[in-house]
Amino acid sequence: MPLDPSRAVDDLKRLRDLTGNADGAQRVAWTETWEQARAFLREAVAPTGAAETIDEAGNQWFTLPGNSDTVLILGGHMDSVPNGGWLDGCLNVLAGVEVLRRIAEGEPPLTVRLVSWADEEGARFGRSLFGSSAAAGSMRDQDELRTLKDRDGIALPDALREYGVDLDGALAARSQLENAGAYLELHIEQGPVLESMDLPLGVVLGTFGVERSRVTWRGQAAHAGSTPMDKRRDALAGAAKLALYIRDIAAEVGGGAVCTSGGVVTKPGIVTSVVETAEQLLDQRHLNAGSLARMLAMAQEAAERFAAEENIEVEWERIWSIEPILFDETLIGFADEAIREVAGTSHKLPSGPLHDAAEVSRAGIPTVMLFVQSLRGLSHTKLEDTKEEHLRLSVEALDRLASKTLAWLA
Ligand SMILES: [Zn+2]
Repeated sequence: MPLDPSRAVDDLKRLRDLTGNADGAQRVAWTETWEQARAFLREAVAPTGAAETIDEAGNQWFTLPGNSDTVLILGGHMDSVPNGGWLDGCLNVLAGVEVLRRIAEGEPPLTVRLVSWADEEGARFGRSLFGSSAAAGSMRDQDELRTLKDRDGIALPDALREYGVDLDGALAARSQLENAGAYLELHIEQGPVLESMDLPLGVVLGTFGVERSRVTWRGQAAHAGSTPMDKRRDALAGAAKLALYIRDIAAEVGGGAVCTSGGVVTKPGIVTSVVETAEQLLDQRHLNAGSLARMLAMAQEAAERFAAEENIEVEWERIWSIEPILFDETLIGFADEAIREVAGTSHKLPSGPLHDAAEVSRAGIPTVMLFVQSLRGLSHTKLEDTKEEHLRLSVEALDRLASKTLAWLA
């Protein structure tokens, strides 16, 4: 069977009809609709002869044995957010099925496996990347996971048990990646960059590192009528200056830097008082660890300056951070070639969102991702869409990338 990208598009439409409704995709992990999606995948793969296993974390694997110990893995996730789009996650899985069909036709030079990771979205319990973090060995929050409950008060361990997963044993899924030589993932971009450049496909360089801070400004509450302008210690003035200055930081550091002041809570928060405290949330992201550290240092230095100018105090607290995760250079090269072959032009870009591929890469396995253009940059909504001709190109690019990677691993 030669590769037929339109068959993958047809599969996507069938899955949409089976597991979606007027509000969008409803394949939330650890629900019946998700189970239906997994059964759909099982049926789609069956004709290739690839054998199915479900690992200790609930990840669904299909293995096409070849002549080697080294394994090529293609992966994605069948789960969606509630009222989600028809492509997020399942595009990579169903494109992977089409690649399996093509490879199963001949003698696979190496063992090839397709994985549908369990609960990438974390929609029911608020914990993303469940299955891939278990397989990568980076799941260190099992005690916390035990306490998570869904909207109806059902505990995570109880919900997982219904799908054959024992939370205490989930880390045993690590053995799945033991012989992995490379991991490939195709995903919709979920952002506006490729569309704005009029390009169907891009190579993902890695996922952004993130620094999240709480910046607390302290001034003095004072009467809005009786306090002259030059006698004020206005905490909001510091937050306001910083909220604008982060644009300069992003522009100066460049390389895709993004900074967001996502919220400011002021006290006393009444119309007749100068602001005494302003709690500001700051999110900074970059693909380069050094640049990210510089962005944070620039913001902190500027904050000291603004505090002096306004005669107020400022204090920093780190809320959360993660290092940038860079994909494999050789595979980035293959992905770039594959895209040029099918689309003429390629583009390299970072990923803002985290993906299962980031977990696999963190486990030390050579990894790369392909992005296909998202229309209007929308995702996690029923409005999520990609042109069908671009979907077909993306399946072809994944197939070429798989061939190049197989030749390299062999
Ligand atoms: Zn996704």
